Amino acid sequence: MARGKKSCQSCGMPLKYDKNGPALEIDGTPSEKYCSNCYKDGEFVCKDCKIGDIQKKNGDVMKKMHYPNFLIKYFNKRVSKLERWQTKEIEENKLETTVEFNEIDNLDLE
Ligand SMILES: [Zn+2]
Repeated sequence: MARGKKSCQSCGMPLKYDKNGPALEIDGTPSEKYCSNCYKDGEFVCKDCKIGDIQKKNGDVMKKMHYPNFLIKYFNKRVSKLERWQTKEIEENKLETTVEFNEIDNLDLE
């Protein structure tokens, strides 16, 4: 488990700005990963939320705070890298698969 992450791994908000936090795990320990907007008592508040829903919410909040659009875009781009939105596949595996397919293509050509 990665420790010491400072931003919510669902919405990207820095946890130090979590005024209602910290979010709690089911056993009552503070979550090190998620903010209290996203996470409560060991589960996601919005379990069915897709990343687009979170990004839209972020955008609305940031617009109210008068953030410029490019910053909102930049912020939301980073959201897609957060732990909650990662697929289980490891990047390296994907890379290997791609190489394999390329090799097969080359063989077919010759
Ligand atoms: Zn959050």
